Amino acid sequence: MFIIVILLGLLIGSFLNVCIYRLPQNQSIIFPPSHCSTCGTHLKPWDLIPAISYLLLKGRCRYCKVTFSPRYLLVEIVTAILFAWCFQIYGLSFLFIKAIVFTAFLLIITFIDYDHQLILDKVLLWFSGAGIVINLGTHSLDFWDMLLASFLGGGLLLLIALVSRGGMGDGDIKFAAALGMWLSWKCLLLALLLSFVCGGICGLLLVLFKLKSRKDFIPFGPFIALSAFVIMLYGSEVIIWYIEKLY
Ligand SMILES: [Zn+2]
Repeated sequence: MFIIVILLGLLIGSFLNVCIYRLPQNQSIIFPPSHCSTCGTHLKPWDLIPAISYLLLKGRCRYCKVTFSPRYLLVEIVTAILFAWCFQIYGLSFLFIKAIVFTAFLLIITFIDYDHQLILDKVLLWFSGAGIVINLGTHSLDFWDMLLASFLGGGLLLLIALVSRGGMGDGDIKFAAALGMWLSWKCLLLALLLSFVCGGICGLLLVLFKLKSRKDFIPFGPFIALSAFVIMLYGSEVIIWYIEKLY
């Protein structure tokens, strides 16, 4: 079963690559089918086996030999690892399906933000829509809780954006609001807190090792996404632990 989850992760990962590459260019993610962006040859099914084709062809196009970015392989492998992680926790259950849908959106948002310093509205709309359908449809979250989470999450980042004068992008604010459709307000605030810690430490290290200067822009979306993933898996445990400790 674990192998099937890994394969599913690689397969979805390869679709996420298409989304990450095409959505910012306003291209359809369905048509045209995958092709080499250099020679234009339509890739055959055997060129598109996730990870395996890449490794067999040593990351090159079979037809014109141009090198494909190892990023494609990275996204596929990361997706597979995260799916396996979700499976480890939820087993074969509805929660697993919900977790991988959530994870897939987080990956799209992360890599587009990393590439373009941009979180696309259309991705956030689909992300929110999926959250409403899944969480409201299965009574996982209460409508008012979702609204409150959205308001608190978006509001907190808006406040930070106003205070820091541009330290936080519009996209980050909308992303936090959209996360309210997926996480309870407690989990969402916890996730944002974690993202500040991760982002802060990472920013500090990058400046310390002179990989970035203090003026460089570091996209914050990936930190929110990473934190949201961790809190989706462990958030309720942390909250229960905290409440027990409190009383
Ligand atoms: Zn080619």
